[in-house]
Amino acid sequence: MKSILIKNADRIATMNDQDLILENADLLIEENKISKTGFNLGERADQVLDAAGKIVLPGFINTHHHLFQTLFRCLPAIQNKPLFPWLTHLYHWWRHLTPEAVRVGALVGIGELLLTGCTTTTDHFYVYPKGVRGDLLDETIQAARDLGIRFYPTRGSISLGQSQGGLPPDELTQTEEEILKDSRRIIETYHDPSPFSLCRIGLSPNAPFSATADLMRSTVKLARETKVMCHTHLAETKDEEEYCLLKFNRRPLRYLEDLEWIGEDIWFAHGIHFNDEELEKLARTKTKIAHCPSSNCRLGSGTAPYPKWKEKKVIFGLGVDGSASNDSSNMWGEVRQFLLVHRAAWGSEIITPYEALKCATRNGSELLRWPEIGSLVPGKAADLILIDIRKIAYAGASYDPVAALVLCGDSFIVDTSIVNGEIVVQNGKLTRASESKIMGEASRIVESLQKRVS
Ligand SMILES: [Zn+2]
Repeated sequence: MKSILIKNADRIATMNDQDLILENADLLIEENKISKTGFNLGERADQVLDAAGKIVLPGFINTHHHLFQTLFRCLPAIQNKPLFPWLTHLYHWWRHLTPEAVRVGALVGIGELLLTGCTTTTDHFYVYPKGVRGDLLDETIQAARDLGIRFYPTRGSISLGQSQGGLPPDELTQTEEEILKDSRRIIETYHDPSPFSLCRIGLSPNAPFSATADLMRSTVKLARETKVMCHTHLAETKDEEEYCLLKFNRRPLRYLEDLEWIGEDIWFAHGIHFNDEELEKLARTKTKIAHCPSSNCRLGSGTAPYPKWKEKKVIFGLGVDGSASNDSSNMWGEVRQFLLVHRAAWGSEIITPYEALKCATRNGSELLRWPEIGSLVPGKAADLILIDIRKIAYAGASYDPVAALVLCGDSFIVDTSIVNGEIVVQNGKLTRASESKIMGEASRIVESLQKRVS
C-alpha cells in the first residue's frame, strides 16, 4: 500500500467538527485516504515529508469558476465595466474559442488553483460557438486529469440569443435538444458519484438572461433523473434583477423557483442581491450559494449581506469565478479577500481568519454534498496542502500561525499540494506539467485570438 508520512508539522488545522488544531503533529496517508493523525507516529512510509515550519490544511474547494476565461484576463476594453457590457464585449471574443484554447485555458486555471492550495475545483463551461468542432467540456476534463486536481465540472449552456430577447448573440446559442443530448452524454461518460471520485458532473444553464425557461426546466428534470447537481448564476447584479422583473414580472429567485430550481441539489453563483425572505427560503430548502467576493468587487456588482447569511444559516462556499472577472484563480487570495471585504462592510468582528479558512474548506464540502473532502480526519480523502511559513512575509507572526495564513500575505503559493494521495505540487511547482510550457502555449493562443478578433 502506497503511503506518505507528514512529520512534525508546525500545525495541522483539521477543520474537524471540534475545530481541532494539532501542534507539532504527524499525518499518515495510505493510498488515497488519511489513515491517522497524531504525535510521533512511528509508522514506516514509502515517503516521508518533513513538515517542520509548515502548516497543514485541507485543500481548498473552489465552488465557482469558468476555467476557459483565463485566456481573457485583463482585456483593456472591459477592465472598468460592469457585468452586462463586460459580457457583451466578451461574447465577441468567445466566438473564436477553439478546443485548444479551452484546453490551455483550463491548464492555466487549474495550474494556478493547485499552486494556491485548491485541491477540488468546480467549473461552469457554457460557451459552445456554432461551427466549432470538438467536445469542449471534454478538453477541460482532460486538462484536470493531466494536472491531477479533483474536478466537478458542470455542463453549461446558452439557449436564449439576442433575437429572442437574451443577452448573448445567437451564434453562441445551442438548441435545447443539442444541449440535453450532450448533457446526458457528459454524465454517462464522466460522472462518477463514488465517495473518492475524481470527477463528478453537474448541469448549469448560464443565467436567466441567456437560458430559456424551457431549458431551465428540462435541465433540472434531467439532473434529478440522473442524480447530479444543478448550478447557475443568480442574483449577481441589480441589472439581472431588473431584467427578471421586466421580462418575467418576478424577482430572480421566484422565477427560478417556479422552474423547479430550488432545493439541496441546487447551487447559485453569487447570490449577493437576495432579500431577507429569499435568504430564509434558501436556508430552509438547503439551496446553496457560491460566494465570489473578488469578482463582485472587480465588476462592482455589490457586497453580499454576509451578516444575514450567518444569521439565517445559508449554506455557502467560496469561489474565484472566471478569471476574466477576478482576474486570478487564486483560492488562497480569495480567502483573504473574503475576510477583508466583509470587515470593510460590516466591521472587524464579523469574521475571523479561521472562519474564512473554514469557508474555503468545510463549507465547500457541504455545498457540494461531498463529506469525504474538506477536513483532515482519518478515513477522509488525502487532499491537503502544506504551507511553509518560514518566510519573511510570516516572520513575527508565530503567535497564531494559522491566522497568519490569512492576515499576513505573500504570493500565496503553497509548498506542497496533495490530491487523492498524490503529490501534485512540490516545492511550489507543479509535478505533472511544465509551467513554462503551459505559459508558452497560453501566449501563443492569446496572440492568435487577438489577430482573429481584430
Ligand atoms: Zn461566473
